[in-house]
Amino acid sequence: MFNREMLTLGRQRSVIRELFSYGKQRKAEIGEENVFDFSIGAPAAPTPSSAQEELVRLLREVPSETLHTYTQAAGLFSAREAVAKSLSTQSGVPMSANLVYMTCGASASLAIVMTAILEKGDEVLVPCPYFPEYEVFISRAGGKLVPVATNSAFHLDLDAIERAITPKTRAMLINSPNNPTGAVYSAEELRALGQLLRKKSKEGPIFLLSDEPYRELTYGAPAASPLSFYDDTVVLYSFSKSVTLAGERIGYLAVSPRANGAETLFDAVCGAGRSLGYICAPALFQYAVPAFLKSSTDVEFYRTNRDLLYGALTDMGYACCPAEGAFYLFVKAPGGDAVRFSEYAKAHELLLVPSDSFGTKGYVRISYCVPKSVIEKSLPTFREIFSASF
Ligand code: PLP
Repeated sequence: MFNREMLTLGRQRSVIRELFSYGKQRKAEIGEENVFDFSIGAPAAPTPSSAQEELVRLLREVPSETLHTYTQAAGLFSAREAVAKSLSTQSGVPMSANLVYMTCGASASLAIVMTAILEKGDEVLVPCPYFPEYEVFISRAGGKLVPVATNSAFHLDLDAIERAITPKTRAMLINSPNNPTGAVYSAEELRALGQLLRKKSKEGPIFLLSDEPYRELTYGAPAASPLSFYDDTVVLYSFSKSVTLAGERIGYLAVSPRANGAETLFDAVCGAGRSLGYICAPALFQYAVPAFLKSSTDVEFYRTNRDLLYGALTDMGYACCPAEGAFYLFVKAPGGDAVRFSEYAKAHELLLVPSDSFGTKGYVRISYCVPKSVIEKSLPTFREIFSASF
């Protein structure tokens, strides 16, 4: 009567969303200020006023029949051109507007690219730990997610990647700055990855899919672009985090003009978008893309939170990953059992996501994209549960 796979997926709640809903309910019961919700990656930094002003300007100045109608499936040419220009500047690779496809955020970019490139049984390598929805997008497209170990700092382990490559490997999916570890891959790391994938692509290209919703959120050097190091690259991007527009659903997918059969791949992307029923990305937000590209979020908001949380937890004895980018702190669960520790934290109104949901055991993820006051007020509880849990 129904598609069994979809029914299972619909009934299976994501651990993150479950905790987030629980947090909302608890806040209603015992007061907003008594629940410390670090579960979800919904950014709290204000949307830049320049981005909001552009939306208001568009609403005032562009006739509604132009502003709110369908755009081309791939998107407004002005938006695609602005994206191509900005990516060219970042990567040094001359990108083409004709190979940019505007999407409803990185999730849509992921679903589209997997549908475009995978045949049944194709494998996609994904470094562990990883964003749980990857599994959904890959398996729906008929592929298989192959988890690949990372090194002790959660950076790329090239030997492990080489061992994982088989004749069925169609793509490798990376995410830097990383959710959940905060790792940011260096240019050297991406160069070495490019060399390995080139060496292993003899029987057909292994696409490098670069999921970059946190691109601008780094606390050291800017994130390096894999476009510069590997031709068969597809960039998946979102304005959800970089411009605090998570609810508006706007992002893009960009194929490198240097990719094998780039135009053919782009045709498959158009086919995938069509088959998934996307029609076009939200038109109003597409019109504002050139302004969004110039109005990035306040990284200092997240740096302040990171420094506060990292410093305080380290002093208490927690073992925290360095958090080079994004807005997540990945912390070893005291006692070693992440599910047990996060349950214990939950009983103390502190909501942390156990790393089991990301394909790795023994850690919890703390989303610090919250108002600073939430972190400040939560610290006594972090201290209390650290010592009590041994
Ligand atoms: N990729 C990663 C690594 C993410 O963390 C997220 C959201 O949290 C997404 C993709 C999806 O982002 P969106 O669909 O809001 O653009």
